[in-house]
Amino acid sequence: MASKTKYIFITGGVTSSLGKGIIASSLGKLLQSRGLSVTIQKFDPYLNIDPGTLNPYEHGECYVTEDGAETDLDLGHYERFLNVETSQSNNITTGRIYNSVITKERKGEFLGKTVQVIPHITDEIKSNFYKLGQDGKYDVVITEIGGCVGDIESLPFIEAVRQARWDLGPGNFLVVHLTLIPYLKAAKELKTKPTQHSVKQLLEAGIQPDILVCRTEYPLPEDVKRKLALFCNVQLDSVIEAMDAESIYDVPLLMKKEKLDERVLSKLNLKPKSKLDLKDWKGFLGRLKNPTSVVTIGLIGKYVSLPDAYKSIIESFIHASAAIECKVNLVLLSSEEITADNYVSMLKPLDGILVAPGFGERGFEGKIATVKYARENQIPYFGICLGMQVAVIEFARNVLGLTRANSTEMSPNTPHPVIDLMDEQKKIDQMGGTMRLGSYACDLKKGSRTALAYGKTKIQERHRHRYEFNNAYLEQIESSGLVATGKNPKTGLVEIVELKDHPWFVGVQFHPEYKSTVLKPQPLFVEFIQAALHKNKNK
Ligand code: GLN
Repeated sequence: MASKTKYIFITGGVTSSLGKGIIASSLGKLLQSRGLSVTIQKFDPYLNIDPGTLNPYEHGECYVTEDGAETDLDLGHYERFLNVETSQSNNITTGRIYNSVITKERKGEFLGKTVQVIPHITDEIKSNFYKLGQDGKYDVVITEIGGCVGDIESLPFIEAVRQARWDLGPGNFLVVHLTLIPYLKAAKELKTKPTQHSVKQLLEAGIQPDILVCRTEYPLPEDVKRKLALFCNVQLDSVIEAMDAESIYDVPLLMKKEKLDERVLSKLNLKPKSKLDLKDWKGFLGRLKNPTSVVTIGLIGKYVSLPDAYKSIIESFIHASAAIECKVNLVLLSSEEITADNYVSMLKPLDGILVAPGFGERGFEGKIATVKYARENQIPYFGICLGMQVAVIEFARNVLGLTRANSTEMSPNTPHPVIDLMDEQKKIDQMGGTMRLGSYACDLKKGSRTALAYGKTKIQERHRHRYEFNNAYLEQIESSGLVATGKNPKTGLVEIVELKDHPWFVGVQFHPEYKSTVLKPQPLFVEFIQAALHKNKNK
């Protein structure tokens, strides 16, 4: 299989959490900035079909693509860096691979053969490696292999990478190994041994890495680089230093300085299609690092001890804040700790309040108290998904006087189900992949805050929910001042509510954070920060 598309595989060693996703995204950005078309995919070794059923504490946020795939949060980084949409094909898990092989076995597609890890599982993995590169749309496909080299569960992926070298042919295949060079304080020394061991493990699996990217807290001296090159069989100029960065968005520039992209281009015999152009990216970094104002915004949710659970929201604030040169101090507050007694002191320092997406009852009443405070005290409020539903419930309880109003998610027998399970959800008995997922159209009311923010009245945003605004209460709720300003044109499902007579109070059923990128900040986040800034100035 001679390939026109070039394939880069990124493996990790020594420890997890070294930031393979950021290195993959940064390399992708540099290649893209030289005119090449790039996509990035992630292969995760766990057995879940997708992360949709995982608690955010397991792997952080579940990211949702345009086509409604529930994916690893690294796909969010790929989109935010490259400004190119990903899809279901960009995230494959061991569970998905086995599911597909076993389904084929049941259909009799293996014609009486014994079905085995090699070749059947590895063939399935490889056919997924090559899927995105098949139609010639991409010059480069970068594949991030989740987990660490040496993990039992990633062995079939590593074996498939070994085989891929021979499928793709010389010059079309490259392995970048991301590793850690720890600094031992007592010895005052950077240590190369863990990296030597992890490269040995790769070699045992038949893979010679072409480039080492070395995460380090201190610059790598020449002799350390030489040692790594010698013991790991890589060229000296292919030992790349990856120092800790102030912002993940600095990493493309750091990698540029270390010539990671040049090494990749030369090893793959790949000609750039244009001169490197990072003007817009640098412009973004310049604005991000030189803010002219500052606001404090509270993100209220129940998974706040793990900020990765809110990755896309946190990054959306960074993109939007740079757009208006306003630093956002984002304070993560646990809704479980907000009570009827302490909410004023907890929320008072905030210029804006965002209630995050979420599921289940834990911390729910803290969210109600939060919305009440924002509504009554004219604090800019942004509710996302569950945050929009809470706003509706709070309004029904405290403005309409329906004191036991609730979502049937929290209270199945509530007398006032202002938020209710969607009809299409009522017949569903499987949890995985069955929410209302992915991109849907929404029509905005002319003159509404959201229409003003987007600068148009027809939008598409991504979703991930089972419950919806109960239209039986629409008239009552609207006539008291909470207006549905965005609706799905086909079903009439309420996608946005806005409060009249309030500086900025917007709840959205969709997840605007999934579409915010460095070069395309999400308009609602920009307007929300503006509103918070306005409040701050009038303090
Ligand atoms: N739990 C709510 C629902 O399923 C909200 C989901 C969310 O915030 N993503 O509708």
